[in-house]
Amino acid sequence: MKWEPDSFAASMQGRASQGLPSFLTAVGRGLRNRCPVCGEAPVFQGFLRVVPECGHCGTPLGRLRADDAPPYFTILLVGHLLVPGVLWVEKVWEPAMWLHMAVWLPLFTILCTLVLRPVKGAVVGWMVTLGFTGEEHGPIPMPAPGRMDG
Ligand SMILES: [Zn+2]
Repeated sequence: MKWEPDSFAASMQGRASQGLPSFLTAVGRGLRNRCPVCGEAPVFQGFLRVVPECGHCGTPLGRLRADDAPPYFTILLVGHLLVPGVLWVEKVWEPAMWLHMAVWLPLFTILCTLVLRPVKGAVVGWMVTLGFTGEEHGPIPMPAPGRMDG
């Protein structure tokens, strides 16, 4: 499937009729650092920078601004994963506060760093299925027509 602004926008409104992936497919591809639309090329160049456009289907992924959503979901996930452990350790062993800090803070940092990238990919995939086209940041440039002579 090749990305075209008009059919992409139309398919955003008409959903699956034009071959846009389902929510689960798009989010799953994003989690695995694959383009949510075609599943072939990577979403990221570097650690968290989204590619300007998919290297395979041309979807302008770089125009989709995930903003604060990935950190929000990352903190939500990692917090729910670790805070019960913090409370359980405190109740059972009552270690010194410095020991809590020495163990949990690096663990939170490492886990958040590992989780942030797949979560951001998933958010980009989710945005595709929600109908974001990036046009809220100005019109999408049309592919340059063939050079006209005369
Ligand atoms: Zn693609």
